Amino acid sequence: MFEMAEERYTELLDRALSQLPSDVAQKDRFELLEPSSSVMGNRTILYNLKEICDRLRREREQLLTYLSKELATAGSLDGTSAVFQGRFDNASIKRLIERYAQEFVYCAICHKPDTRLVKDGRYTFLVCDACGAKSSAKRNL
Ligand SMILES: [Zn+2]
Repeated sequence: MFEMAEERYTELLDRALSQLPSDVAQKDRFELLEPSSSVMGNRTILYNLKEICDRLRREREQLLTYLSKELATAGSLDGTSAVFQGRFDNASIKRLIERYAQEFVYCAICHKPDTRLVKDGRYTFLVCDACGAKSSAKRNL
C-alpha cells in the first residue's frame, strides 16, 4: 500500500515539475532580482530589498550593511525597503548586489547559489549545500 502511494506521489511530483517554466525547475539557473529603486529628494529608496534577499536567501540586515558600506552612506530598513542617504542610480545598486552575490552567495568551487553563511569565531564561511565546499568569505560583515 505504502509503495503504491509513494509511486503516485512521485508521479504527481514529476507532473507538477514538468508544468513549471524551465527556468524555475532548473536549479542551476539562478538570477538576481532586478533592483527597483528611486531617488526621493536626497535619499534613495530600494523598494524590493526583501524580495532580493529572499531570492538570495540572505538576511536583509546583511545586504543593507553591505550596500551602505559600499555606497559609503547611511542606510536603514523601512519595512520591505531600504533607505539610503544620498542619490544613487539603479545601475550602481544592481552592480553592488551582483558583487555581494559573488562574495557571499555563489560557491567559490561550483558557483552554485545553494550556500549558507556560517560564523565560526571571528570568521565567516560560505558553506555550499550543492558540493559541500566550505570557503572563507572574503570579508566579514
Ligand atoms: Zn559548491
